[in-house]
Amino acid sequence: MEHVVVSLRGAERWRDRQHPWIYKSDVMETGGPPGVVHVRDERGGDIGMALFSPVSTIALRMLTHEERAIDPNFWTERIAAAAAYRAALAIDANAYRVVHAEADGVPGLIVDRYADVLSVQFLSAGIESFRKLIVRTLNDVLRPAGILARDDLPVRRHERLPGGIEVLSGDVPEEVEVTEAGIHFLVPMREGQKTGAFLDQRENRVRAGMLSRGRALDCFSYHGSFALHSARNASHVIAADSSAEALGRARRNAELNGFENVEFREANVFDLLRALESAGERFDLIVLDPPAFAKNRESVKAALRGYKEINLRAMRLLAAGGHLCTFSCSYHVGRSAFESMLAAAAADAGRPLRWIEWRGQAADHPDIVQIPESGYLKGAILQAT
Ligand code: SAH
Repeated sequence: MEHVVVSLRGAERWRDRQHPWIYKSDVMETGGPPGVVHVRDERGGDIGMALFSPVSTIALRMLTHEERAIDPNFWTERIAAAAAYRAALAIDANAYRVVHAEADGVPGLIVDRYADVLSVQFLSAGIESFRKLIVRTLNDVLRPAGILARDDLPVRRHERLPGGIEVLSGDVPEEVEVTEAGIHFLVPMREGQKTGAFLDQRENRVRAGMLSRGRALDCFSYHGSFALHSARNASHVIAADSSAEALGRARRNAELNGFENVEFREANVFDLLRALESAGERFDLIVLDPPAFAKNRESVKAALRGYKEINLRAMRLLAAGGHLCTFSCSYHVGRSAFESMLAAAAADAGRPLRWIEWRGQAADHPDIVQIPESGYLKGAILQAT
């Protein structure tokens, strides 16, 4: 097995701070193909085992502190531990994340369950070298009817890996019906965003459904998931999205659940909120779940202007006692920036609001204290007085 030598600074990240990434700039000596390596610091001290990605800026993704074989037993232990954590959550849904990459000690691997099939993503060259073994382990531990690779991802290009969608085992239908706290959804396995759906919002959708009453507005609705949870308790729901295709699926999902109180609006949310405000409309629940406005650090300022604009308009549209459930999935917009943005939006909206709750990603997407990158979704619930 190859050895990789890293600087003391690189070693310190893992040894003293338990962060599993060691950047290329901290790698002093390397060689060899992607795969498992022993890692030593420049003084010769062993720091553990890692997955090595020769072309990535994240050269090493640490697996262990101790010397041990990275064999089938290793992957079985890690994947079984991830599955046991989810089982203990007693999730009221059959669609959820089973493996959240580094946050579950399996760097670069995402595994999402949709009923009896799995949708997986191999995000680095290191984990890619274990592709066959991972598929075998997933079959042994989770016994799915099929496994689909959703490797149609830009990050794979940085690792010089091919993109694509491929059935890795069993059968994977085009569409899978899943249940989330009593609501049914159709998941397009090959065409849906991410691995098929936005599983990270599950707990927030259920929470928004509980707060829902009267008139509800679900902005950036995608397949209508917040709208459907709201439709149970609201009299009327508007599901808005700029994608006609997404709304087509949202409509089918509403039919699947027998809801007749959901209206679909194909619109740019920025324009729609302005138009609703001019029309003097009011809502008892508004959900804002936009795509990541900040894709990198450089775009944070512009992103915050976008977040502020939609939030302040939504705040103005709240009926007295109405709730705003607002989110950002931009990793680069941290919790405190999000909070300041909301405070500034509330000031400009000119109406008093209560902080009701802070929200994050669902617990099946663990956010590890030592790995800030594992947490990205943040949200708040506010109420108009
Ligand atoms: N709330 C959804 C996920 C939303 S994903 C869920 O819980 O499943 C973001 C959605 O925003 C996508 O469907 C995309 O089509 C839509 N979108 C992006 N920019 C938009 C805009 N300016 N106006 C309206 N919709 C937009």
